[in-house]
Amino acid sequence: MANVILQKKISQRVANGHPWIFSNEIDRIEGDTKPGDIIEAYTFDKKFIGRGYINPKSQITVRLLTRDKNEPINEQFIFNRIQSAWDYRKKIGYTENCRLIFGEADFMPALIIDKFNDYFVLQTLSYGMEVWKSTIVKALQSIFNPKGIYERNDVPVRELEGLEQKKGWLTEPLDTNILITENGLRFYVDIENGQKTGYFLDQQDNRRAIKHISKGADVLGVFTYTGTFEIHAAHFGAKSVLGLDISENAVLQATKNAELNGVSSICRFEAVNAFDVLKQWGKDGRQYDVVMLDPPAFTKSRENIDKAVTGYKEINLRGMKLVKPGGFLVTSSCTNLVSPELFLDTIKMAAIDARRKLRQVTFKAQASDHPIIWGIENTNYLKFLIVQVL
Ligand code: SAH
Repeated sequence: MANVILQKKISQRVANGHPWIFSNEIDRIEGDTKPGDIIEAYTFDKKFIGRGYINPKSQITVRLLTRDKNEPINEQFIFNRIQSAWDYRKKIGYTENCRLIFGEADFMPALIIDKFNDYFVLQTLSYGMEVWKSTIVKALQSIFNPKGIYERNDVPVRELEGLEQKKGWLTEPLDTNILITENGLRFYVDIENGQKTGYFLDQQDNRRAIKHISKGADVLGVFTYTGTFEIHAAHFGAKSVLGLDISENAVLQATKNAELNGVSSICRFEAVNAFDVLKQWGKDGRQYDVVMLDPPAFTKSRENIDKAVTGYKEINLRGMKLVKPGGFLVTSSCTNLVSPELFLDTIKMAAIDARRKLRQVTFKAQASDHPIIWGIENTNYLKFLIVQVL
């Protein structure tokens, strides 16, 4: 096993428990390495830091898997990590559908596994994790005896690691349209062509948070995807619900999901560009009791944070203008690089421009099956805010 010796001044990030070691933080490598090899990381004065995998081709050269000198990385290790992630989910009450492995937050860097009842959808986003894919499948089979395991590795980030993009069953092929139950409602999930792993489990608790404000309301849901928030609103007693998404396919799925839950007479979905119609509807003076915004991530790179903030400000400003006085704005951001403080500041700026006063109802993060690890900032990524717009 090769040794990776870090520079004299070890970064605070690594010292505080973050598993990534960047190429410019390494002083030297003792021994030969190829992508995916397990290495040991040491401080300049030869103190053991941890054991992890290396990819000399990646800017994130090492990702640590353990800081325990006595823990070897092998099949048993992978099994133990998945078992302990599952035990944690069960402990905090996420069993039927959950993010079973949330990468760094489950000490399995670059691995995502979503559990949709008897189906598992996984992503191995680094070379070092890809190496363990068949071991991961074996562990899932032995712990869960699932119906099927599907890989959604059609993700551009894999190319930075020298991996191809691909998707498909890792077990016997089955229908890729599956059905899940969330908060007593049912949703079709297209694990082959849906976004990310097919369904956004991270909002599963937040969807319940709109219960009281939905009652008797005219609701506008923007960036609806498969209609999850909107169908919840109808279920909670909304008078009318309109959901918007730029994707025709998403709108078709949302419509099917509304039928499945018997709320087709309340929910309607339209395929439009939200930025265009919100501007126009503001001019037309349209008004709703509740406006919900759940846009996709606006940036993944630091250089574009300002642009992302401008995007959030604009969409929230337009959304706010459509809220009746005393109505509610439900607004989310899943952009990793936009901190909760920055998000709130942006909403504040939008309110000043819209000349509206805000009263905060609730401010939350993602569902707890996506744990937030203190010291690993990017695990705290979802912002979910409800405000009354006065
Ligand atoms: N609220 C959803 C997730 C939304 S994901 C849920 O909880 O499941 C973001 C959605 O925004 C995607 O479905 C994407 O198609 C849509 N989208 C992206 N750009 C858009 C635009 N300009 N106008 C409307 N929808 C857009």
